[in-house]
Amino acid sequence: MKIHEFQAKELFARYSVPIPDGGVAQNVDKSVEIGCGLGFPVAVKAQIHAGGRGKGGGVKLAADSNELKACAEQILGIKLVTPQTGPEGQTVSKVLIEKAVSIRQEFYFSILLDRDTASLVILASTAGGMDIEETATESPDKITRVSVNPLIGLQPHHLRQVAFGLGVPRENMKAWLACIASLYRLFIENDCSLLEINPLIVTENGSPLALDAKIILDDSALFRHPDLKEYRDASEEDPLEAEARRHNLNYIRLSGNVGNMVNGAGLAMATMDIIKRAGAEPANFLDVGGGATREMVEKGFQIILSDSQVKGILINIFGGILRCDVLASGIVKAVKNVGVKVPLVIRMEGTNVEQGRRILADSGLELLTADTLADAASKVAEMVR
Ligand code: ADP
Ligand code: MG
Repeated sequence: MKIHEFQAKELFARYSVPIPDGGVAQNVDKSVEIGCGLGFPVAVKAQIHAGGRGKGGGVKLAADSNELKACAEQILGIKLVTPQTGPEGQTVSKVLIEKAVSIRQEFYFSILLDRDTASLVILASTAGGMDIEETATESPDKITRVSVNPLIGLQPHHLRQVAFGLGVPRENMKAWLACIASLYRLFIENDCSLLEINPLIVTENGSPLALDAKIILDDSALFRHPDLKEYRDASEEDPLEAEARRHNLNYIRLSGNVGNMVNGAGLAMATMDIIKRAGAEPANFLDVGGGATREMVEKGFQIILSDSQVKGILINIFGGILRCDVLASGIVKAVKNVGVKVPLVIRMEGTNVEQGRRILADSGLELLTADTLADAASKVAEMVR
């Protein structure tokens, strides 16, 4: 789950990671009120779940309350397009107003998971403000990379390696080491999958200050953090994905036109592969789960059908815990309730498959059945063509 910059900064504050003073506003009046409370100049920053806001005009400096008013009016409510939003942009409904600070130097800092080595990695670079991908290709020597074994945890030598890599001011070494240690602790204690600060700056007096903040939380660990769940901003997410989550369905919208519903993530991946092989493109990933109920099948169906791009549907279910007869009656009910106007191909195997097939055959609905996965995929690919 992605969270906003102002929320990530709230977490920073809890861990004593230095951030500029600021507050979040949903309208122009509140923006001006916060700015006047802080004292000028201030930065006005669009809060959307995407970076590159500076380049897209979503970060502006204001020297007085008139300028602040103008900036807030310009940013609030627009569809901000940045290199990370895609051409359609993202609507800005909140701005962070924070004290503008003078910058001695800009660093890049992140903590992420390295699945290859099953460790955490701290990346730090003196090329702050730039895309790290760009730095990695053009001047990889500017990146300090420190692996931390999560079982052993962060050690003092890791901290020194990062700080020396950045060449942080000697007289402020203590503050920098404490800042990096706090960021690591924040990452671990909140089950983050990414923490990125670009730029982490050196202030005029040499101390660290996080000017930007990006955090991605591990969805699978959110149940351990009821307080963080409130950070979810459904308006930043795909409405169908949000709806699916409310019903415990694993659904990701994709760009193709073959909707598919599968039980089990592995089978869902394989089904998407085979749809592609048959020359079509999947419109989604949908795993209703091994223990799906009839209600979940119905809901999954509704979600697929709410996607106007879907021109055909493939249902691929292996009846284990979810028996084929239960699935079949779920499908029949859903088709009757929802009214399906696109071709539907069903491939079913497993427990009670014969009863399941009979229910489909007796339903009087126009359903195409397939015996094998390849057969199912080529039938649905044919239909959408
Ligand atoms: P993004 O990465 O989405 O473009 P940032 O938060 O990194 O957004 O802001 C872009 C740039 O704006 C920063 O690199 C920094 O130079 C400047 N900036 C951001 N916040 C402040 C601030 N509080 N004071 C001064 N400059 C700022
Ligand atoms: Mg940034």
